[in-house]
Amino acid sequence: MSDASVPAAAPLRLFNSLTRQLEPFQPVHAGEARVYSCGPTVYNYPHIGNMRAYVFADVLGRTLSFKGYKLTHVINITDVGHLTDDADDGEDKMEKMARAEARSIWDIAEHYKQAYWSDVRALNIRQPAQWTVATDYVPQMIAFAQTIAEKHCYELDSGLYFDVSSVADYGRLARAQTDDGEGRIEAVEGKRNAADFAIWRKTPAGEKRQMEWDSPWGKGAPGWHLECSVMSGEVLGFPFDIHTGGIDHREIHHPNEIAQNQAFCCTNGLDLPANSGAKIWMHNNFLVERSGKMSKSSGEFLRLQLLIDKGYHPLAYRMMCLQAHYRSELEFSWEGLGAALTRLKRMLMALRKLDNASDPEINTSKGLAGLLEKFQVAVSDDLNTPLALTFMEEALFYKLAQPGEKLNVVNLMDQVLGLDLYMIERTDLRIRPKAATITEAEIEATLIARKEARAAKDFARSDALRDELAAQGVDVMDGDPLGWEWKLA
Ligand code: AMP
Ligand code: ZN
Repeated sequence: MSDASVPAAAPLRLFNSLTRQLEPFQPVHAGEARVYSCGPTVYNYPHIGNMRAYVFADVLGRTLSFKGYKLTHVINITDVGHLTDDADDGEDKMEKMARAEARSIWDIAEHYKQAYWSDVRALNIRQPAQWTVATDYVPQMIAFAQTIAEKHCYELDSGLYFDVSSVADYGRLARAQTDDGEGRIEAVEGKRNAADFAIWRKTPAGEKRQMEWDSPWGKGAPGWHLECSVMSGEVLGFPFDIHTGGIDHREIHHPNEIAQNQAFCCTNGLDLPANSGAKIWMHNNFLVERSGKMSKSSGEFLRLQLLIDKGYHPLAYRMMCLQAHYRSELEFSWEGLGAALTRLKRMLMALRKLDNASDPEINTSKGLAGLLEKFQVAVSDDLNTPLALTFMEEALFYKLAQPGEKLNVVNLMDQVLGLDLYMIERTDLRIRPKAATITEAEIEATLIARKEARAAKDFARSDALRDELAAQGVDVMDGDPLGWEWKLA
């Protein structure tokens, strides 16, 4: 293979939700990028909308690596403290599910953490440097709360509350007011401000929670917002570079994290709005689905496994995510997923042709270098993956370059997009629902028999074999330009 190297760097610009502007990425520590992503609450399976948040964080991390930064990415696992209502009301999601499934919280957490990790692998999301698990950090959470308690918190019967009026410019991330008239947060009796939130929730007298710890404020559990402040600060150090999450977190969870971070830094004389813990806060927009299948309370909700069971390769979903900019809403549909799969197939077909092709006469890489440059400009422009994808396709189909060079360039591009084109096989991309009873061996055998019949001009038999397959849900695709020969209905 010839040597295609990463082209001259276009400056990386990222959209900072704090300023609602594109900003140049200027690392806190030269040459490094430290990123924290709010991870899942492991009380249920993630839906594919949740997984969009991690595909986005993965593309961000891959882009930072591609641009030469030494990346430290942390994703947390929330196994305690997240209430059923993000606005600090209701029950602990984990406790509720443990009761519903009659299992221990630890069992629930382990089961759904593994399920989440399985989706992470299936979507070719790179392993972060560290997975921080909330229950491993409770002593640090108590210490953090103690640091800020005196100046920023007050105690009620139900817990230790954070006074949002004690920090400068609370809620600027959400563009919300402290005394919000939106009624977005339920009143707890005695709260000083409607937006105040519990950073430590006391176990009510006479009750026992499955997960509870001793603290200066009595037995109880940490608040969800406290967890992320502590884990991000502990592992990455304040200030770190980038904090990510879904756009819903821009409204409550992240403003509350920021308030705590400010309070914490305030003990070092740094209660400045600019001192938000992370320099850049990034948010992916939502994956939506019209019929409400995205809601975990809707019975059969959209899990990655459902897509797989219906016969779609999980990377078709990754492709679907990449086709939209992370800040745009993305609507899920099965047709859309099918189209993403077809696009993936076309790319794979082109790549496989390169594997076999060789044309030593052609010896120019100028055009390819130009495409690589355009590609890196696109991803450097706030992760414009829809545009970057088109340059990857152009490189794959580019006529005036040697196959080896193309392979090299496409490989570099795929380090950012993570479609894993080198690892998947053509046959992996066939649609094959789990419910299908016919085996691939049977399909292949019938197709061979059909080919023989056609060679012998026995068209009646050929048609009969085709009908036989159709009766079992197999659609034979003669002359399929993508060469996939069949699909299961
Ligand atoms: P949770 O487990 O509820 O904390 O959610 C995990 C991540 O998924 C968070 O970053 C959420 O903001 C994000 N998220 C939730 N719903 C969606 C959705 N429909 N589309 C994209 N991201 C989502
Ligand atoms: Zn968080």
